[in-house]
Amino acid sequence: MSNKQNLSDQYPSITLNKGRDQSILRKHPWIFSGAIRSSSGKLHEGEVAEVFDSEGNYLASGFVENGSIAAKIFTFERKEINIDFWVEKINTAWDQRQKIGLTESGNTNAWRLVFAEGDGLPGLILDYYNGLVVFLAQSLGMYKARFDIVSALKICLKDKLIAVYDKSVFAKKQEGTHDQHFLTETQAENPIMINENGHSFLVDFIYGQKTGFFLDQRDNRNLVGNYSKGKKVLNLFSYTGGFSVYALKNGASAVYSVDSSASAIELAGKNVALNCPEIAVKHHGVIADVKDYLQLMESDFDLIILDPPAFAKHRESRHKAILGYKYLNSAALKRIRNGGILFTFSCSQLVTADLFESMALSAAIEAGRNVRIIHRLSQPGDHPVSIFHPEGNYLKGLVLYVE
Ligand code: SAH
Repeated sequence: MSNKQNLSDQYPSITLNKGRDQSILRKHPWIFSGAIRSSSGKLHEGEVAEVFDSEGNYLASGFVENGSIAAKIFTFERKEINIDFWVEKINTAWDQRQKIGLTESGNTNAWRLVFAEGDGLPGLILDYYNGLVVFLAQSLGMYKARFDIVSALKICLKDKLIAVYDKSVFAKKQEGTHDQHFLTETQAENPIMINENGHSFLVDFIYGQKTGFFLDQRDNRNLVGNYSKGKKVLNLFSYTGGFSVYALKNGASAVYSVDSSASAIELAGKNVALNCPEIAVKHHGVIADVKDYLQLMESDFDLIILDPPAFAKHRESRHKAILGYKYLNSAALKRIRNGGILFTFSCSQLVTADLFESMALSAAIEAGRNVRIIHRLSQPGDHPVSIFHPEGNYLKGLVLYVE
């Protein structure tokens, strides 16, 4: 295909203002509406559009969005967007997971196969759970492409694919039963069992949060395991007990999992029973609001994990979010035992590592404790960050030694 704009072009076109092509030339995948000079007719959310500079030279293709981001780019090479295109993208993502040892691991069979911008596919999340792919479209374009993406998954994964389940917000709005959310003729049983670093977990991909399991904490759970022997552990915002299972299997003396979701605590109990039935009595599931629990809790925990949901979803709420993190961290720091270890996380994209660290400093001052940073943590290699899109670096963690 030529790289010049032409009247007979297959896709609608977006032409940028002069000088507004800098970020896209650096491969940042978002086109802001203010950068657009004109388009060939009215653009519709979810359709493929090609982007050109003010001279009519091709720059990139992507899906049209509604809002201040007018398009999100998925290729910088001019090509037809068909099943071959999706096959190439998914194969590239699969190869990267293979290179980091996930796809042929003997003890892990669940990972993120496609992480949006990190894999050059803004708006698309594909999580692989022991043969089941959970499809989560965060843009209408990706949702509309779902059947081509499923065809490509079948070609790429072959017998490693059992079924694909649609967990997109767009799917929720549709009428119908959960069975109709399978995008393949084949289905998988809910909950599905996965292995992570040799531990078993039940994943409720239908009613659970996000795609069903927080795969992004895989490496950090190992580190919690390393520090758990003989320790009394408190897992705040535990969800289905990911950190709790690692702590118990690594010799924790007791583990408390606290979450406001009753179904999450129920599944945490099942996950503990699945992995270590002989010591399940050491596990205590607590259905509570963490803010209330922190007021009433005992102050003899040796290791505390604090992994709240994303507090800042918009730039305007960032300040409030930081205050929320500070409140939780200061309460945990006040109550942890002398010589204790706090694993604290933020999964808000808008809270940068610097902001998070200064929040922890304020919390330490407020709690009146002496605190050392012993690790700075992030997301694992199946949640890659495109170097051209640093916004993808959303998970920050600090491991603090507290005296
Ligand atoms: N650490 C978990 C993931 C945490 S996700 C893991 O490794 O799997 C965030 C969790 O916080 C969710 O399970 C949600 O139910 C819970 N949650 C949100 N607000 C809460 C609150 N105020 N009190 C207790 N739990 C809360």
